Amino acid sequence: MGLQGLTKQKIEEKIKDLRDKINYHNYLYYAKDTPEIPDSEYDRLFNELKELEYLYPELITSDSPTQRVGEVPSEKFEQVKHKYRLFSLDNAYSQEDLTDWYNRIQKTFPNEKAIELFCELKIDGLAISLSYEKGIFTRGATRGDGKTGEDITVNLKTIKTIPLKLYSGEVAEIPEFIEARGEVFMPVSSFEKLNEKRRQTGEQEFANPRNAGSGSVRQLDSKITSERDLDIFVYAGIIEGNSNPTTHKDTLELFKKLGFKTNPQSRLCKNIQEVIDFCNEWQEKRFELDYATDGVVIKVNDIRKQEELGFTSRAPRWATAYKFPPEEVITTLLDIEINTGRTGAITPVAILQPIKLAGTTVSRASLHNADEIERLDVRIGDKVWVKKAAEIIPKIIGVDISQRWALSQPFKYPETCPSCGAKLERKEGEVITYCSNLAGCKAQLQGWLEYWVSRGAMDIDGVGDSLVAQFIEKELIKDPADLYGLTMEDVLSLDRLAEKSALNIINAINSSKIRPLANLINALGIKYVGKETAEIVSQNFNSIEQLKSASVEELSSIDGIGEKTAQSIVKYFENQNVLSMLKKLENFGVKLEEEKQKTIGEQPLAGKIFVLTGTLESMERNKAADIIKKLGGKITGSVSAKTSYVVVGENPGSKYEKALKLNVTILNENEFLKLIS
Ligand code: NAD
Repeated sequence: MGLQGLTKQKIEEKIKDLRDKINYHNYLYYAKDTPEIPDSEYDRLFNELKELEYLYPELITSDSPTQRVGEVPSEKFEQVKHKYRLFSLDNAYSQEDLTDWYNRIQKTFPNEKAIELFCELKIDGLAISLSYEKGIFTRGATRGDGKTGEDITVNLKTIKTIPLKLYSGEVAEIPEFIEARGEVFMPVSSFEKLNEKRRQTGEQEFANPRNAGSGSVRQLDSKITSERDLDIFVYAGIIEGNSNPTTHKDTLELFKKLGFKTNPQSRLCKNIQEVIDFCNEWQEKRFELDYATDGVVIKVNDIRKQEELGFTSRAPRWATAYKFPPEEVITTLLDIEINTGRTGAITPVAILQPIKLAGTTVSRASLHNADEIERLDVRIGDKVWVKKAAEIIPKIIGVDISQRWALSQPFKYPETCPSCGAKLERKEGEVITYCSNLAGCKAQLQGWLEYWVSRGAMDIDGVGDSLVAQFIEKELIKDPADLYGLTMEDVLSLDRLAEKSALNIINAINSSKIRPLANLINALGIKYVGKETAEIVSQNFNSIEQLKSASVEELSSIDGIGEKTAQSIVKYFENQNVLSMLKKLENFGVKLEEEKQKTIGEQPLAGKIFVLTGTLESMERNKAADIIKKLGGKITGSVSAKTSYVVVGENPGSKYEKALKLNVTILNENEFLKLIS
């Protein structure tokens, strides 16, 4: 650390500086869910401070971050005092650290040959405590500073794996009071879906599953929490009652019997070597899991021994967290490439000096948008930190400014499209810039055609990216409708295509003419309308003709379609190029309407407008909506004087109250089932 020669004053300054930095990053990480630096960099600062305080114990203050559990509970939520304090964990970064920790523990029990240790994966989520009185869930709170947390009971109740009532079938009696402790997290697959959706709607993406999970469970509106796919693993608990387990393993088993989800990836180890083996094993295997884990928590299994070892000011002495080596590496940013996507969205991509990261060689990483480049102040030639977001997509997370070239210049974000040269536009409140050239930009057309032929869209086999590029280059295609006008001769004029392949391509294009309406709407590439939204739209309209004449009001009254999406749909159909493309599609025989059953059978609900609220017992809401539409009815998202029926399931929302106010006919589930039978 090179402390020799430093005056006491300089050391005090250094300590103050480190504390300020750590407090600042704690705030960003815990309160805002938007960390600026990688965890490994944070850990480096934290350990540097710990080391200085170890060397100069007289400089330790009670408010130092090393003496406290990290987060300050936010005032957004009601603050609650924990009945039992919650702690953080001390860290181990190597086999030596683990062995040192084990040796320290053994010293407390000199007569024991070996001490049993319980290994669990360290879940990278949000620490919470769940209180149950007489078996009923009464309160859920964040860890906060360990003494006081945030009351997030309502939000936690929306997580299906948190029991609202304890299960009594496998235990002799339900304890008077228990507190379960665990980690709420968002599965990696759900995190990716959520980010994909946010990308489509131009919202800021979450940095990683931890931030997404923490941000979702700390929402002021529990409806948003309920829409996010969250899960929990319980890893500890306190029981007030007679039947207290004597080991950590038995505690977890008891919690499992009571209905909690515990992580099956755990192991009871007889010695420290077995612990090291478990850590090594999971270092590799962790990428196979659908949740993020940043290490292994090792706990002394015997609870009497735990009590004897006790706690420091911020962590138990009987446990430690082995942190996997950081999957964050540093490399050089060689260039920033600017790409134009199918909707005209511009995405900057970092071109990196290739480097090994989490098992693969990485040479490109997303930089998302102009704001991200500005926030990171990332410049060509910089040494940058790269991480696999959710261990999959590489992402630049920071710049090592200390290694910056003296003459480096801030990156100048382009003002024109790199493909067609048109001016880039950025709407107020949006983070993404768009190429304004809707009809003549080859990059947009390439992206659009690739999307058009893809699975969830028109699903045309055999038309890959390079074929698309050739069609555009030879000017055989100016919009997706031109695909349907291609002749054998056109296709054979492309490089190296045999007659049989050309025929297959023509056949595949022709058979895509009858795809379902939802696929076609998706293929149209309307801004903010992805596969899911296209599905919703198709359930409410029978044809492109009908959709074309829908108003913003009509569209945004549909459940699942916001104002922004509605505006985007209307604007899309105002474009003359789009209209002539639709005409061409029609002429080529592409099906632009859905022959739904309702046009054949009876339509007893024709003209009726329905609103659905609450949970129906007999079917999912989507299914109910389908049936209504098949019988000729319409679904809207909000109650108005025009609404014919409000179907009310369990836990209805404000729509129910509005229906009462407006005197709209309310149907309970049975009445609704009768109506549709
Ligand atoms: P921690 O995350 O290192 O460890 C303690 C926590 O681990 C516990 O509170 C518990 O919630 C959790 N945990 C997960 N699985 C567990 C299991 N099976 N058993 C027991 N506990 C389990 O400690 P912390 O105080 O929450 O956070 C510190 C860490 O957070 C740092 O090491 C750093 O990685 C990260 N951090 C990063 C930044 C940043 O800016 N990047 C800022 C602050 C903190």
